[in-house]
Amino acid sequence: MKLTVVGTGYVGLVSGACFAELGNDVICVDIDQEKIAGLKDGVMPIYEPGLKEIVDRNYEHGNLKFTTSLEAGVKESDIIFIAVGTPSQEDGGADLSAVKAVAQDIAQYINGYKIVIDKSTVPVGTGDWVEELIEQQQEADYDFDVVSCPEFLREGSAVADTMHPDRVIIGTESKKAADILDELHQPFEAPILHTDRYSAEMIKYAANAFLATKISFINEIANICERTGGDVAEVAKGIGTDHRISDKFLRAGVGFGGACFPKDTKAITKTAQERGYDFKVVNSVVEANKLQKQTLVKKLKREVPNLAGQTISVLGLAFKPNTDDMREAPSRTIIKQLLEAGAQVKAYDPIAMEEAQGIFADDIQYCKNAYDAIEDTAAVILVTEWDEFQDLDLDRVAELLTNPIFIDGRNCYDVEEMKKRGFTYYSVGRPAVN
Ligand code: NAD
Repeated sequence: MKLTVVGTGYVGLVSGACFAELGNDVICVDIDQEKIAGLKDGVMPIYEPGLKEIVDRNYEHGNLKFTTSLEAGVKESDIIFIAVGTPSQEDGGADLSAVKAVAQDIAQYINGYKIVIDKSTVPVGTGDWVEELIEQQQEADYDFDVVSCPEFLREGSAVADTMHPDRVIIGTESKKAADILDELHQPFEAPILHTDRYSAEMIKYAANAFLATKISFINEIANICERTGGDVAEVAKGIGTDHRISDKFLRAGVGFGGACFPKDTKAITKTAQERGYDFKVVNSVVEANKLQKQTLVKKLKREVPNLAGQTISVLGLAFKPNTDDMREAPSRTIIKQLLEAGAQVKAYDPIAMEEAQGIFADDIQYCKNAYDAIEDTAAVILVTEWDEFQDLDLDRVAELLTNPIFIDGRNCYDVEEMKKRGFTYYSVGRPAVN
């Protein structure tokens, strides 16, 4: 089939490349000229395992194209995916200006029946006004359908998730569009769920709000364990073996970040509020997560009350391993707290260093590896559980630190082991060694 994907970011580029890999002709469109020029030269704008291989292969084969021309994208394809960003506005609501801009362009260039698919995460009812806008602004009277197909890929495993989705949601009441999209998604061999458009739009927010709730729930259990005794990892195992609960998303840590959970939890509470409903559970999740991001520096301050003039190492900047994405990353809150307290920061991340430089500029020192970051610092804070941070040479770490203080935001190390090695060790929801 002939497809256009508008917005060549984490979702658009990965989806476009995967649809091309399955034999479709795909045009990826973006307004970012540098991004498109880079892609034509084989430069990936994001880090995502396995992505470069499929992009290169399909680009060379000619069934994956990159352009800044939405006109070409609209005219040459029958199916147009909208995969542009929908970031948070000041008030927490989703900024839909990019979606609107794309809808206007589609209206301008439509030249026959099109299926316009919203893959971006958008509030319930967005499909209605996208449909209305295209209807009103197109000059001719071409038939088209606006469908909601929310995306569930996870950064860091986006290619695998796209190729093997748990389910595909097709939100439309048009049988014509549903049949075509069934055929398009058949090769994924995943269950296809047909819903109305509102339900499809809500499914995405409900899924993210639920997962975020699970994370905040276990983080709060961890915070209580720290006060009562007990080990949150044991608790998580104990409840996670219950099939009704499941063991996924029950790892206590430093709070969720990234491009989705923070903005989507805020957007769903905002949507509810606009309709006169106070979404108490998710409002609390947002608040709990904000506080959770501050817990590591609080723990550090128990050992180093005055951080002014101290140098602290931060391991891990990306919001999670296997990505360079630092949007809403807990590391940002932690580094901000450290700098505000007058500390100096030495940081290292296996992939996100370039991204970090765009954010922190000269405010922190960028190191070439974990040990370089740790050397001559008063304490280490482990923020992102990259594999290489889970297997550090602890004797070397202890030697390099001026004080053997280790704040582990991801429970990567064994409490007893850290005690034996003489560390002052704080983790999340487990006994402190001090
Ligand atoms: P992104 O910021 O990585 O990419 C968005 C792209 O859209 C950018 O390259 C930008 O230049 C481009 N763009 C903006 N306006 C445009 C326009 N008018 N025309 C053409 N291109 C335009 O965003 P993302 O992370 O891929 O997210 C996209 C959407 O998918 C969001 O709604 C997000 O919530 C949702 N989503 C993201 C993920 C994820 O893990 N990143 C997962 C599921 C759903």
